[in-house]
Amino acid sequence: MNIILLGPPGAGKGTQAKKIEEYYSLPHISTGDILRENINNNTSLGVKAKSYMSRGELVPDELLITIIKDRLSKNDCSKGFMLDGYPRTIPQADALQMILTESNKKLDAVLNIAVDDEELIERLSGRRMCKCGASYHVNFNPPLKDGVCNVCKGQLYQRDDDKPEAIKNRLIVYKKQTQPLIDYYNRKKLLRTIDGSKEISQIFEDIKSVLEAL
Ligand SMILES: [Zn+2]
Repeated sequence: MNIILLGPPGAGKGTQAKKIEEYYSLPHISTGDILRENINNNTSLGVKAKSYMSRGELVPDELLITIIKDRLSKNDCSKGFMLDGYPRTIPQADALQMILTESNKKLDAVLNIAVDDEELIERLSGRRMCKCGASYHVNFNPPLKDGVCNVCKGQLYQRDDDKPEAIKNRLIVYKKQTQPLIDYYNRKKLLRTIDGSKEISQIFEDIKSVLEAL
């Protein structure tokens, strides 16, 4: 089973990715993780990628494609994979199509976890972080004492990009970037929309029914 996961920030994509990975033993391939891995292991791809990232530039498509191709050729992908964070653009989607065709593979579905903006803003703007790495949510996972970390008693703070105005911007950027991709996979009849406003376990049940109907 070869699938792609899509979803705006705050939709719970990471949580569902973990569940899919465990339940179906599908390797979860996130571009961010592969880049970090290559950089940490000092591979030639990693060294190249790092030279762009350290200048604050985007890793060019050509290099990303090589990295994805390399990753998809690993043994653990022989029975399937779940891509997360790639593709982000139509040229990347076309490149992925080429990689898959070359290796006699095909995409089975693109899962799009959809949540409306208002709810995303509520979810994201309630996040509170602590320097120790702990994170909370004012409604869904509040600390024992308002504004204070349960673990280290540190003062909780809100990340700048979790402030409502910044969230609205992130969602605008996400939509602008992703809508063409959603249309692209919809035309290819691969798109499956999942209602991400439900309970975590219910969302996963819905994902299972979609995947089992493939
Ligand atoms: Zn803390």
